[in-house]
Amino acid sequence: MARYREALCRICRRDGEKLFLKGGRCFTDKCSAERRKYPPGQHGQKRVKLSDYGVQLREKQKVRDMYGTLERQFRRYFSEAERQRGATGEVLLQLLERRLDNVLFRLGFASNRRQARQLVCHGFFTVNGRTVDIASYLVSAGDAVAVKEKGKGIPSIADSLSKVLHRGVPEWLELNSEAMTGKVLHIPSREEIQMPVQEQLIVELYSK
Ligand code: SF4
Repeated sequence: MARYREALCRICRRDGEKLFLKGGRCFTDKCSAERRKYPPGQHGQKRVKLSDYGVQLREKQKVRDMYGTLERQFRRYFSEAERQRGATGEVLLQLLERRLDNVLFRLGFASNRRQARQLVCHGFFTVNGRTVDIASYLVSAGDAVAVKEKGKGIPSIADSLSKVLHRGVPEWLELNSEAMTGKVLHIPSREEIQMPVQEQLIVELYSK
């Protein structure tokens, strides 16, 4: 399974935004995007004016990095979004939000998507009573997710759940933190995906 192996904070610095890829550290003053507000690398501090294409590309990279997918998989989500009814950009975000690792992160079972992905791959979660170990599994409205017995003693899950009470769970999801279960109430609308993303830039980029 291919995945990004470089330093995560470099991604935030390159995108010029906090993408909250590391969980707890992102909320402390150790955050690299706060401490060094310029792109990484030797020429990072030079002023560069991006072309229209550059702006579109950066937006696409940002969303792709947020959800932790690689280019080919992200392109597949876009093709699927184009095939489905509705605004392509919105459907693209809905597909990404429906990924199991994202849902577990949103429910608070993990402090970031990367951690959620690892927990899923180790088989700690069920969807509708069946073990699912594929992080890109797409949940549907009405699906019930739960931590398996063997996962209930994992400190990182309990720790993340205690913090989600501050962060809050999105309205399209329902969490039962005591039973360590969650439910997908409906597929999120664009308004419910509260992320600073201009998805039309991604549509323009891939439509060239
Ligand atoms: Fe990004 Fe978090 Fe690193 Fe800050 S600490 S740069 S938000 S990954």
